[in-house]
Amino acid sequence: MIEDRVAQHYAVGMNDHVRGAMRFHSPDDDPVARQYVPDEAELSSLEDELVDPIGDHDYSPVKGIVHRYPDRVLYKVTSVCPVYCRYCFRKTMVGPGQDVLRKAERSAALDYIRKDANIWEVIMTGGDPLMLSPKRLQQEIADLNAIDHVNVVRIHTRMVAADPERITDEMLQALSSGDKMVYLVMHVNHAQEITPRVQDAISRIRRQGIVALSQSVLLRGVNDDEDALESLFRGLVQCGVKPYMLHHLDRAPGTQHFRVSIARGQELMRALRGRVSGLCLPEYMLDIPGGFGKVPLTPQYCHEHGAGYDVTDYKGEMHYYE
Ligand SMILES: *Cc1c(COP(=O)(O)O)cnc(C)c1O
Ligand code: SF4
Repeated sequence: MIEDRVAQHYAVGMNDHVRGAMRFHSPDDDPVARQYVPDEAELSSLEDELVDPIGDHDYSPVKGIVHRYPDRVLYKVTSVCPVYCRYCFRKTMVGPGQDVLRKAERSAALDYIRKDANIWEVIMTGGDPLMLSPKRLQQEIADLNAIDHVNVVRIHTRMVAADPERITDEMLQALSSGDKMVYLVMHVNHAQEITPRVQDAISRIRRQGIVALSQSVLLRGVNDDEDALESLFRGLVQCGVKPYMLHHLDRAPGTQHFRVSIARGQELMRALRGRVSGLCLPEYMLDIPGGFGKVPLTPQYCHEHGAGYDVTDYKGEMHYYE
């Protein structure tokens, strides 16, 4: 079985919710199946693929913290996820066999945040931070809340799209138990994933006063066409979720079959501009391999020309701006 062979290298995991969101169960025929069902192509890696594609390791001052930008840190509280995505950028770092923060490591990570007054925002990630129990989440929020200079807590999670029933009211109360503003960024890549149960989880998140945003990865065979992106972003905005980022795929091992070129990504973003409301447009981002951070890959609409600029409108027509 392909699944067993892939599972020797990378974590594999699906649940009834994501199976239910699939129309077909083969990765070649369905945009949800393609995200979760192991594929033979994962068994080969290209030379330019990296175990740590965005250089998390080099920017980790203590275990569980990644500090690349002065005002914000990633705080990786667990390495497990409700399901395992085949294109995961931390593909070799997530899974049930990987390390979880131990008690002493957790206090060292929190000490690090406490000691640096430049840290304005803490981004809880993993793995999936919502794998923690409501009780443990409440403790995390209480500890972060007690740090004066931390003003914003952001949660990056797959749980909303992958296992909405685990977004319980108890969990949401735990997340909003501090005074600091909480933003939840849900990871979702296709409109088919926004099932009625996912919509219900989103409305409960919003009722709790948590701001809901989304991040998606541009993936070949999943969402690399205008219609798929349009339905995804419209579907999110209709439920009250603002699309925040569309990530260019990070080059983790065994993900070559998901690659889309930057030129194609920019072409898609250009096609969406004007076609959908500005509310529906996320920023298309590249995380530069090696840990140099993220940059927008926004298509160029404006070029210097003489004493002014040539500006291209959404239909492709040029105008001179003096
Ligand atoms: C992506 C990332 C962030 C968050 O970046 P934003 O532009 O604020 O969304 C922060 N720290 C690290 C190390 C990251 O990789
Ligand atoms: S939920 Fe996130 S961290 Fe977990 S497997 Fe998917 S992409 Fe990777």
